[in-house]
Amino acid sequence: MTRPRLLLLATGGTIAGVAPTAASTLSYAPASLGADSLIASVPALGDLADITTETPFSTGSQHMTSAYWLTLAARVRQAIVDPTIDAVVITHGTDTLEETALFLDLTCPRDKAVVLTGAMRPATALGADGPMNLYAAAALAVNPASRGAGAIVLMNDQAFGPDRAAKVHTSRVDAFIARSAMPLALMLNGQPVWQVPAAIAAARRPSLAAHFASLPAALPRVDLLAQQVDADPAIIDWCLQQGARGIVVAGTGHGSLSHPIEAALGKASDKGCLVVRASRISDGPVMHGASVDDDRFGFIAAGFVTPHKSRLLLSLLIAAGLDREAARAVFASF
Ligand code: ASP
Repeated sequence: MTRPRLLLLATGGTIAGVAPTAASTLSYAPASLGADSLIASVPALGDLADITTETPFSTGSQHMTSAYWLTLAARVRQAIVDPTIDAVVITHGTDTLEETALFLDLTCPRDKAVVLTGAMRPATALGADGPMNLYAAAALAVNPASRGAGAIVLMNDQAFGPDRAAKVHTSRVDAFIARSAMPLALMLNGQPVWQVPAAIAAARRPSLAAHFASLPAALPRVDLLAQQVDADPAIIDWCLQQGARGIVVAGTGHGSLSHPIEAALGKASDKGCLVVRASRISDGPVMHGASVDDDRFGFIAAGFVTPHKSRLLLSLLIAAGLDREAARAVFASF
């Protein structure tokens, strides 16, 4: 039987972090180890696949940029059409892992599994979670049932769809959950036990890959603002002056907005800026017309898409040339 061929792309993060002592779990230098060091720490990976490694860039994921996303997406798109690669694993910092996963899922064809993983503890820590996460990510990626899965987040023995994966704790090893959903799979004895078949979950998620025969050189500017007590609407004009083509607002409650913010966003919308109304609440959707008259102001309700993911989604929708109604339909389909 031929062995699966896996491409490992290392991009930094805590999984590649080095601390001064084995007890240091929060103070360390992230992105210190390359792909080869990561696989050297997990000899059992050799039982799973033939692995080639690349380190396209190495950073703490709080430094993630759309330029890094476009670089990574271009490499993943190549891998997906490369007959010598069966699946892809990406190691990544956990801070923006869920956003990178969604970006890749939206921009890349879903024919092969692309599993993103990271770690909450640096590689040098007692009880480091990176080696097990890396092994589980590889096992998941090469599993035949993962074909057609698109991008999946694997953390702490659970596989999450990129639409629902959310980091909800700053330090615990079980930092990730599936927001308003259950994990796609549990990893048990190195095998995925699917709760939602991967290909079915992928088919339910919108894809923008067909809009991008080639990737854009850069993404349109979209700003993310927060509704808060005493929120100053002047910031909305400032965003427009900086060239924002879209604004996402993390509203209170059901995406609710104060009158000054609502009015200023309505004016931005009248000028052609696409405005998405999301919520700062940790769970639940923002439904069209609920708590704000979206038709009157021209706003797009984010549905189940979180503010941070709404920002990247809106930027991609604008890059793809979709208008407000088409963008509304994509948000509503998550
Ligand atoms: N700040 C780190 C990063 O996102 C945290 C981590 O990887 O867990 O790169």
